[in-house]
Amino acid sequence: MAYTITTRCVGCDSCRPHCPTGAIQIESEQYWIDPSLCNSCAGYYPEPQCAVLCPISSAVPLQAKKGRCKVDTRTATSPDLFANSKSNPFASAIVMWELCNLLAQRQSLPWEADTTGKLSYRRQVSKGRGSITFRVIETVELEPPVALQGKTALSAIGALDIRAACMHLIYAAHATAIEKPWEQEFIISDRQIEEYLGLEKRKDLSKLAKLTLIKDLAQQPCKITTCIDWPQQGRVQGFTVEDSRLWHLLGIQHHFQEDHLGCKHLVGLTFRVKAGTWAKYFLNKQGCRERTSFYQYGSLPKSLLSAVMSIWQQHEGAARMMLWLLFKTKMGREQRITIPTLMRVAYGEAKVTVAASYREERKRLLRTFESDLEVLNHYGLKPVFDPITYPPEIQPLWAKLVDLPDDAEAALEFWTKDGSNGTRLTDSGPRGKWNRLMNARILWFELPAAWEPQATEVKKKPQRTTNRRINSKIQPVLSREEIMAARKNLRLSQRELAKMTGKSQSWIRDIENGRFRASSADQLLLRKVLGLA
Ligand code: SF4
Ligand code: SF4
Repeated sequence: MAYTITTRCVGCDSCRPHCPTGAIQIESEQYWIDPSLCNSCAGYYPEPQCAVLCPISSAVPLQAKKGRCKVDTRTATSPDLFANSKSNPFASAIVMWELCNLLAQRQSLPWEADTTGKLSYRRQVSKGRGSITFRVIETVELEPPVALQGKTALSAIGALDIRAACMHLIYAAHATAIEKPWEQEFIISDRQIEEYLGLEKRKDLSKLAKLTLIKDLAQQPCKITTCIDWPQQGRVQGFTVEDSRLWHLLGIQHHFQEDHLGCKHLVGLTFRVKAGTWAKYFLNKQGCRERTSFYQYGSLPKSLLSAVMSIWQQHEGAARMMLWLLFKTKMGREQRITIPTLMRVAYGEAKVTVAASYREERKRLLRTFESDLEVLNHYGLKPVFDPITYPPEIQPLWAKLVDLPDDAEAALEFWTKDGSNGTRLTDSGPRGKWNRLMNARILWFELPAAWEPQATEVKKKPQRTTNRRINSKIQPVLSREEIMAARKNLRLSQRELAKMTGKSQSWIRDIENGRFRASSADQLLLRKVLGLA
């Protein structure tokens, strides 16, 4: 149980120096105990030192807060993200992608010790002409930051939480709303973060538990530093960024509410954050116009944040893939992705290597991978399997069952037909499935509607011929109702239309349900097949 300091405190400072966890703090000349740090002196002293040493018994056990939590005066925050309730621009430069990977993949990445013992993770850029190096540091306050070494660094890396990647993305989104993010700060409250992460729906967590979690997650992206050695690219000259924080946590304001006994309860937090020097080179509008730096941004779907917050424990591999795909899909919709690459992202190189040698590990990893792919599919990231390298016999069972008709009679016919085949859908995978998977590819992921803008943004660029061809035939966008009506007019089932278009039945169903919007190429295809051209 944590302790708290009541309003009777006279500020004699007898308790603070003796607190073994540094939980006793002073803010606005008031003493208070950080409940996320106080552990009642467990493991240090037999009795809570603040309670023992306080001459006026002002330190008392913290009781659960009753009633509503209300913050009287709050610092004005930066405008809310996700104004359209779906997505928001966010800084998507490679350094942001790698920090996202680092927070999600942690020990799975190849960390290396330098000559001084400091651990670092290095990512090469432009085929080795440059590099980005990350290091982990202990605190958010100390300047200049000191990189951790050896076991201390390893345990700090192990303590990182994949959910901190969501907080990093929230920072990356706020940074795009500022003209010069490397100079200006943005302010976020716990209420905003709760809403972005979908935590306000978590009735199982107390207010204090949510605040403790938010505070912890908010600090983690600020405990990583980077140094960048960037080569010349196009007209942008090469540059170097000295080792510095990616995000500066300039301050945390704690908001308290007093109860009738004078006990102070933590009821709110406000964070002041600033982007590091990297933003001067990768999120610089003016510099981008003058061709001296980049301005790289993508679209952050709000649904991604709540999805990661929901699945991180049961399906960490799926959460890792989802975060990785956010950046990968920005590079173009039709990105072929090999299965070993996806597995390394989801589970780390070491696990994939072990699985290659041990049958039981292999079976376990395969089961997890197929189940994680199903989770992605459930959240609207539908893998399109390469028919050559990833044919149905080695696809997961759930993928084969997406075409199962909804209608009971048609379903019975489906299973009867399957039963008369030499191989059945429910048969276990063929021999050598693992080896085949190591050469298999996913052609691309069909994305949920909220993910789409980033794909279209990227598509704008080079394809002049294609654009001209499409522009010459600009057609109004087909609505889901029009597609459904046209299909029914032709007396086609979703299954039949799926066959005619070369798509899956679930794709047609999702388009008609409005879960996805067909791309312009698919719109053309649908028009042709449905006779709407
Ligand atoms: S109970 Fe112990 S750990 Fe908690 S605030 Fe008091 S001295 Fe610090
Ligand atoms: S809680 Fe007690 S010991 Fe600590 S500063 Fe206040 S009065 Fe002094």
